[in-house]
Amino acid sequence: PKMAPVLETIAAISTPPGRGGIGIVRLSGPEAASMAAQLVRLQRPLEHGRARLADVLDAEGETAERIDEAVVTYFAAPNSYTADDLVEIAAHGSPVVLDLLLRRAIGLGARLAEPGEFTQRAFLAGRIDLTQAEAVRDLIDAQTLTQARQAASQMGGALSRRAAPVKQDLVELIALLEAGIDFAEDDVDVTPQQEIARRIDELAVPLSALEASFSRGRIVHDGLTLAIVGRPNAGKSSLFNRLVERERAIVTPSPGTTRDTVSERISLDGIPLELVDTAGLREAHDVAEQLGIARSREALADAALVLIVLDATQPLNEEERDLLRAVQGRPALVAMNKRDLAEARSEESAALDGVPVIATSALTGEGVAELRSRIVALASGGAASESGMLTNLRQHQAVTTALEALADAKRANESSIPHEMILLDLYRGLWALDSLTGQTTADDILQLIFSTFCIGK
Ligand code: GDP
Ligand code: ZN
Repeated sequence: PKMAPVLETIAAISTPPGRGGIGIVRLSGPEAASMAAQLVRLQRPLEHGRARLADVLDAEGETAERIDEAVVTYFAAPNSYTADDLVEIAAHGSPVVLDLLLRRAIGLGARLAEPGEFTQRAFLAGRIDLTQAEAVRDLIDAQTLTQARQAASQMGGALSRRAAPVKQDLVELIALLEAGIDFAEDDVDVTPQQEIARRIDELAVPLSALEASFSRGRIVHDGLTLAIVGRPNAGKSSLFNRLVERERAIVTPSPGTTRDTVSERISLDGIPLELVDTAGLREAHDVAEQLGIARSREALADAALVLIVLDATQPLNEEERDLLRAVQGRPALVAMNKRDLAEARSEESAALDGVPVIATSALTGEGVAELRSRIVALASGGAASESGMLTNLRQHQAVTTALEALADAKRANESSIPHEMILLDLYRGLWALDSLTGQTTADDILQLIFSTFCIGK
């Protein structure tokens, strides 16, 4: 049998590049503590969970000079982030000192850590599962508090806890089939076939709910794109600016000047939103305008949400009617803009055909707050956040695969084929559920996931 590989000691600067108040070098592996003792002059020996004051030295040996003062914290295996011995040297955040510490650690035999390798070790040691590891990355990448909350809950195992009982029931069903079923102990009327169908249905219910959580989980995780469309001069750029509260898009009184699309990421109530200000959708007079309009159409096609800006002083034109027809059934809002110049025209409401209208004035700011809250409501789909949502495609794929396997198992059961065949489908479902938490995830996919982490995490 192959021996388990000896764990290397890895090292990285865990704080972001550049100067900072504090900079941290992390070491993890069997040599972490002994290396640390050579990198710094400790006043007292390292002890698990204790911070120690130490001098950072510029070299090894008696003639070494002190170049910084640091706080060194040691976590003994298995009670550390990585589950191996872990040392954090928190020096002043000078890149020169941190680089020297890292170079000296390498000189002592440490290997430069790959991105996410500290977290990968925690995963490989079984201290956390793959959804928790992904949550660590998501927490670091979070741009809004809502995203951070979602990541923290997943880091605490919310998603795994939600999937665990389904997995347990599935294992139970597999065990029963493997044992050559004898369900109808108490209830003679129920055939094994009926009982298998009932159990598969019971598995599918919580799994479908989990699958459905992706539509909300991904919104918090990835955010949404809102395309602002409408005829030239309707006030798209002015409203865009109102929404981003900064003068970014160039506003000019002549029509057709927003030739390209301008976009900005903002956070509306914790939901990351990419606002795209598009060129006016109408016949182009030159190539630049044509390009702008093509991009507008793309933005309109790609966006999850659409804000149609109408000019309240102008009657609806043919393009606007087309636009309103095009967004039927999609999450869309109409801003009836230039409200300061004209009353909203009620005779148009038939053409708006159910698309909610908010009267706005980009000039005075009237209606902009309402517009903002209507966008948030549209973006969040009115759904409250739940605990343990699916947040990325990989997780979603695992759950849909499990659901498909269950559906296959059910069909196999209905056609009264041998239990061995039903079992194949059930095992496929179990494998998929295990891949959610990383137990059956292929090495190259793991590599891919951890490569998206920061260095030093
Ligand atoms: P876009 O071509 O749709 O992006 O329109 P702009 O945002 O560039 O605005 C075109 C012109 O209309 C500019 O002169 C704006 O100042 C003006 N404008 C935009 N919104 C309003 C509004 O609500 N009221 C008034 N009175 N003028 C507006
Ligand atoms: Zn514009």
